[in-house]
Amino acid sequence: MDTERIIIIGGGPVGIEAALYGRFLGYDVTVLEKGTVGEQVQSWGHVKMFSPFGMNSSRLGRSALLAQSPDLELPDEDELIDGERWLREYIIPLATSDLLSNSIRTESAVKSVGRTWLSKGHLPSDERDACEFRVLAETPEGEEVFNAEYVIDASGVLGQPRHLGAGGVPAIGESAADVFCGVPNSQKCEQMSNARILVVGNGHSAATTINHLQSLNQRSPETQISWVVRQNTKAPIKVIDDDPLSHRHEIATSANAAVRDGNVDLHPHCTVDKISGTGPYIVTLLQWDDDDDSSLEIEVDFIIKNTGYRPDMSILTETQVHLCYATDGPIKLAAQLLGNTSEDCTQIDAGGADTLLNPEPDLFVLGSKSFGRNSNFLFHTGLNQIRDAFTIIGQRDDLDLYETIEPT
Ligand SMILES: Cc1cc2nc3c(=O)[nH]c(=O)nc-3n(C[C@H](O)[C@H](O)[C@H](O)COP(=O)(O)OP(=O)(O)OC[C@H]3O[C@@H](n4cnc5c(N)ncnc54)[C@H](O)[C@@H]3O)c2cc1C
Repeated sequence: MDTERIIIIGGGPVGIEAALYGRFLGYDVTVLEKGTVGEQVQSWGHVKMFSPFGMNSSRLGRSALLAQSPDLELPDEDELIDGERWLREYIIPLATSDLLSNSIRTESAVKSVGRTWLSKGHLPSDERDACEFRVLAETPEGEEVFNAEYVIDASGVLGQPRHLGAGGVPAIGESAADVFCGVPNSQKCEQMSNARILVVGNGHSAATTINHLQSLNQRSPETQISWVVRQNTKAPIKVIDDDPLSHRHEIATSANAAVRDGNVDLHPHCTVDKISGTGPYIVTLLQWDDDDDSSLEIEVDFIIKNTGYRPDMSILTETQVHLCYATDGPIKLAAQLLGNTSEDCTQIDAGGADTLLNPEPDLFVLGSKSFGRNSNFLFHTGLNQIRDAFTIIGQRDDLDLYETIEPT
């Protein structure tokens, strides 16, 4: 039998780890990455990760790197590194290792996935199972078709930020305004010194933004920070009881302390209605009130949105992936995640191999994209997904390279 082919969409951390796993098992693997390896991690590379290196790497990955370069010094497993170091010392060395370097095509954006001889309307059948995938990508050489028996979509969510307007609908004027999306690095912070800054969102990215701006505030005391959150609370970031990740605890408590100490002007129970002007901006906020909704206007020079991301499922529209109406992620996993009540993403039970199955056979959505709009994805969960997906691909329930590979 010919070697089976796997196409992996996305050369982010999960795509690269999945490629490594597939190559170890002898599959013919092609990774199609629309930019450079780890492109999205690069965008937040200045941020210190809250999970330690041991959770951000696999035993397989560490062994592969040490087999290739025995003198290599990897970060300690309990070390907290930033995204830039994760890329430089782990993801990129894996991608350029002898095992993977010939399997990765950068600057190759996948446009559409289907089955060569069947359309979306052909119901699941043995025929569908047997028909190869056809993947269209825009590469530096022009449009190219790739065929494979399996497709793993690990194309992430970070390319599609959600809107900051009320109800997830764009605020009036949002698309025309120069809204910064993400956590500002030191250069961006310097640009904003002594200015009026609005931050929107209440997740850990928003908290990290607030903390970065706080240090700016200490150096440039005229800086004014406003923070808009939908929740009716004086402490916007949920602090997890006995948080096992100490840095995540620090991020949450220090952002809440910035509000408590009066360094940040919090607008709770608010959402953005309208942005006027070209900078400075007049931002109209809708304020929820039990008796009577009201609005207020604030004037700011910079707007930062940390309102989360959503997956781009358009590349899969010719396949039979059943999506959740609430998260836009694949339904089986979404249903499992909706049942999780823990605030702590390290405690999330992603449900095992069964939650990775779609009506479309041999197509797997893994990594942050598999969580859809749910922002609780951790790389560590991605490693479990890779292991589970290959038990299905290899038809071996007990297959677990992370367990069987010799520890480093
Ligand atoms: C500020 C911040 C801090 C974080 N801290 C942590 C942390 O401490 N611990 C942790 O576990 N996680 C953390 N995360 C989450 C982190 O992003 C994920 O764990 C990890 O990067 C997910 O990897 P991924 O491969 O699923 O997605 P991504 O890193 O987004 O990679 C997806 C890749 O697919 C490519 N791509 C997209 N569309 C296409 C296409 N059509 N064709 C080809 N390629 C495509 C992209 O260019 C990208 O390279 C953090 C995220 C942020 C934003």
